[in-house]
Amino acid sequence: MNKCHICTQAVFSKEIAVLSYALNTFQRELPSDSIYCQTCLEKKIQSFTTDLDRSKFQFAKSMGEVRNPIEGIDYYFNEQGLFTMTAWYHLRRGKCCTNDCLHCPYKAVLTT
Ligand SMILES: [Zn+2]
Repeated sequence: MNKCHICTQAVFSKEIAVLSYALNTFQRELPSDSIYCQTCLEKKIQSFTTDLDRSKFQFAKSMGEVRNPIEGIDYYFNEQGLFTMTAWYHLRRGKCCTNDCLHCPYKAVLTT
């Protein structure tokens, strides 16, 4: 049984576990086999995307484009019920799609 490193809740999703391993391998704060539940992983990814640097762009891009978006991690529905991609999703795509997305992580980079 895999348990979340933070809240000890059981983790059943292989996709969530794989994302946890990848993030821990990159951040090196915890053993790379530490995993998170989806709720804790969402928080981890949110903090990852709030303070971006070159190595983070490279890491997210190296994971490849998201094939099966996960609600709460890759997208969410905003207050108007609109499908909204997260910065994490955009980072994994590796480039700006020039659609002026709300969470585009490339804006700041592109304008400098
Ligand atoms: Zn947790």
